[in-house]
Amino acid sequence: MPPRSYNPAMAKSWKTRLIHSDVKVPEGYRSLASPVYRGSTTLFPDAASVNDTWDQHEAGYTYGLYGTPTTLELAGKICELEKGYRTLVTPGGQGAIALINLALLKSGDHILIPESVYTPNRKLASHVLRRFGVEASFYPPEVGAGINDLRIKDLLRENTRLVWCESPGSITMEVQDVPAIAEAAHARGALVALDNTWSAGVFFDAFAHGVDITMQALTKYIAGHSDVLLGSVTVKDKGLYQKLGATHQLLGCASSPDDCSLALRGMRTMAVRLKHIEASALRIARWLAARPEIERVLHPALENSPGHEFWKRDFTGSAGVFSIVFKPQATKAQVLQFVDGLELFEIGYSWAGVTSLAVAYDFHGSKGRPNYGHRIVRLNIGLEDTEDLLEDLEHCLAQVWGG
Ligand SMILES: *Cc1c(COP(=O)(O)O)cnc(C)c1O
Repeated sequence: MPPRSYNPAMAKSWKTRLIHSDVKVPEGYRSLASPVYRGSTTLFPDAASVNDTWDQHEAGYTYGLYGTPTTLELAGKICELEKGYRTLVTPGGQGAIALINLALLKSGDHILIPESVYTPNRKLASHVLRRFGVEASFYPPEVGAGINDLRIKDLLRENTRLVWCESPGSITMEVQDVPAIAEAAHARGALVALDNTWSAGVFFDAFAHGVDITMQALTKYIAGHSDVLLGSVTVKDKGLYQKLGATHQLLGCASSPDDCSLALRGMRTMAVRLKHIEASALRIARWLAARPEIERVLHPALENSPGHEFWKRDFTGSAGVFSIVFKPQATKAQVLQFVDGLELFEIGYSWAGVTSLAVAYDFHGSKGRPNYGHRIVRLNIGLEDTEDLLEDLEHCLAQVWGG
C-alpha cells in the first residue's frame, strides 16, 4: 500500500520527489533547544509579496542574509541583555567593529580611538578607513574628565563623528571613564561606540552610561567554548538601527544559523560559567599580585589596576581575562619560558572559553602604550579547578626564577 500522503495526481519522477515531497510530519513539536533554521531563500506566499527589505521585524522574512528565526532569536537575546533598541548579528567581533565604522563614517570625518583598543580595531582605522578619507587619532584611555591636564574634550574636533571606547582595554586593561567621555562627545555632536566584549554585555550597562552603540565579540563569553566566531552590534535607537541595518545588508554580513544556535546554547550556561570564572580569576590575580616575581597585575577589580575606580563605580562584576607584568629583571627568554612551561594554560589567541590560556606580548616601541616591554603576559582563566591552576603557576614560576 502506498503511504497515506501518496497522491497519484502528483506521481512525478522520483527525481522530482527528491525536491517536491508530500511528506507530512506531525505538528506541535516543542523542545527546549532553539531550532536551527537554515536558509538562503525565504519563501513568499505569492508573487506580489516578493520584496528585499532588510528590516524583517517590519517586513517579515525576506532573505536569509538578514537572518532566519535562529539569528533573530540570538539578536533579540543579546539586545535584551544589553538593554538596547535592537541588535544585529555579524560574522565576528571584528566584523561588528567594521560594520559600525562603515555605517557611520564618511570621507572627511575624524574618529577617536583609545590607544588600548583591540589591535585589529586600530589597524582597520589606520589602514582601511584612512584610504576612504577618514582620519583617526588615538587617545590615552585614561582621558575622561581629565588626566595630566589632557581632556577628551580638547581632542574632539569639529568633524569628530565617532568616539570609540573599549573598557577595559585589550591586554593593558585600562577601565575608561565612559560617562565622562560620552558627555564630552555628545556635547560636540559625536557618537560613542563601545567594545563591550569583556563585560559579556552583562557587567557593564553601556546605554545607561551614555553609550550610543555597543559591539561584542560573541566569540567570547556568549558562545563560550572556543568553537564559534560571531559578533553583535546593539544600538540605542531606531535611527541608528536604520543606518546600521542598511549597511549590514549592503556589506552582506550574513552569520550562520548553526553558529547562532551554538551561541544561544552558550548563553544558557553563561551565568554559571561567569560566576566560576570571575571567582577563580580573582583568586589567581590576587595570588599573583603577592608573588615576588611580579611587579603588577592588571585586573580591573584589583586596586592598583588602571581605572579601578571606574570599574568599581560602573561595573557589576569582572571577567576572567587579565594581564601580569613581571619585574624589570625578567628577561624576554624567561617570560617566554614561563608561558611555555605552564601545563594547563594553552597558548593561543582569543579568550573566554573553558580552557585557560597564556600569551606573552611585547610593547617595545608601541606608540602610546605603557612601557611594559616584553614583561607582559595575558592570562585567560577557564573552567579548570582553581587550585590546579595555582599549582601550575607556582610550579612554573619556581622553575623559571628558582623561587
Ligand atoms: C576577540 C575580540 C574582538 C574580535 O572578535 P572576533 O570574533 O575574534 O572577530 C573584538 N574586541 C575584543 C575586545 C576582543 O577581545
